[in-house]
Amino acid sequence: MLAVQLIDWGRAPEVREIPDPEPTGGELVIDVDAAGLCLSDLHVMDTPSGVFDYPLPLTLGHEVAGTVSAAGPDADASWIGKTVVVHGIWSCGTCRNCARGRENYCLALAREPGGRNPRIGNGLGHPGGLAERLLVPSADVLVPTAGLDPTVAAPLADAGLTAYHAISSNSDLIDSATVALVIGVGGLGHMAIQILRAMGVGTVFAVDNREQARTLAVSLSADAAYTSVDEAASDIRAHGGADIVLDFAGAPATVESASTVLGPGGRLVIVGTAGGRLTVGKDLGLASGWQVRAPFWGTRADLAEVVALAAAGHLTAETVTFDLSEAPSAYERLRRGELPGRAVVLP
Ligand code: NAD
Ligand code: ZN
Repeated sequence: MLAVQLIDWGRAPEVREIPDPEPTGGELVIDVDAAGLCLSDLHVMDTPSGVFDYPLPLTLGHEVAGTVSAAGPDADASWIGKTVVVHGIWSCGTCRNCARGRENYCLALAREPGGRNPRIGNGLGHPGGLAERLLVPSADVLVPTAGLDPTVAAPLADAGLTAYHAISSNSDLIDSATVALVIGVGGLGHMAIQILRAMGVGTVFAVDNREQARTLAVSLSADAAYTSVDEAASDIRAHGGADIVLDFAGAPATVESASTVLGPGGRLVIVGTAGGRLTVGKDLGLASGWQVRAPFWGTRADLAEVVALAAAGHLTAETVTFDLSEAPSAYERLRRGELPGRAVVLP
């Protein structure tokens, strides 16, 4: 089968012919219908060797929708033929966080201090779904999509799930009076605007330095879109400051300025990993009771809720589609900021 593989750290991926996966034990095979391209993939590919404990070549793709096509001898064969999205966090299932349903903070997937980043799941250490077929360890990582368009379903696995978790894990701040700011209206951010509205949030501001992203933000019902946090600041302060700022850029230009537009008791949720740094302390002149969080991805229950939101028509993905052979050039276009919404490969 064809697969998009990272051959060496710091190099562009390549489309290669590799053997078909064979399920053993409780494993299942997914015929991949769609796989999204995430900016995180570029962070992984750009990293020097020694940071990630990932064997190379590595098939990329951690945002996958497909149809179950084969089951190992110990797997539940009733899954065959079902359309699914894959939860990309292959957690241990037994640690205290897994027992709490917080698989995204599984102790078995934690990095040792000073150690390498461990294998998390498909495309992030284990062979991923930018391929014609994907092997998953068990049905536990599958969420049925009941016939959702796979081009929409695939981005739910990370862009939708990460945005959803970043919002739903701050549900104490979410109601019709909420003032929210979404920074970075790309794959994750364009989902976040829709999720905030679906949860009834009254005021949603957006910031992106790309014009097509600002246009997308307004078309998805943002009240206004600005080129920078500084440009948005006076309008946000006129609303008493932001209750929640979701920073999907996480850049030096966004993180620190984002903390300054919080209202009293407001929360900055940093999701993007573009090198922004924040000084934390009590005497910084920021709003009283301000908080900062850096959530990671989302839980399996969150993924089921994201799929339900999409099935109910409250959430969709703006996509640009490519075939497998175009994936390397699509990643370059993502890097250059040329693509609105999510790039999705249809193998
Ligand atoms: P994307 O490229 O689709 O979107 C990022 C958006 O941010 C773009 O629209 C870009 O124009 C905008 N942006 C970048 N710098 C900006 C700045 N200085 N000011 C204003 N806007 C700016 O990327 P994506 O796939 O949506 O991923 C977003 C980030 O989230 C990435 O850093 C990715 O690694 C990270 N991520 C984190 C998690 C997690 O669990 N924490 C999961 C997935 C992705
Ligand atoms: Zn665990």
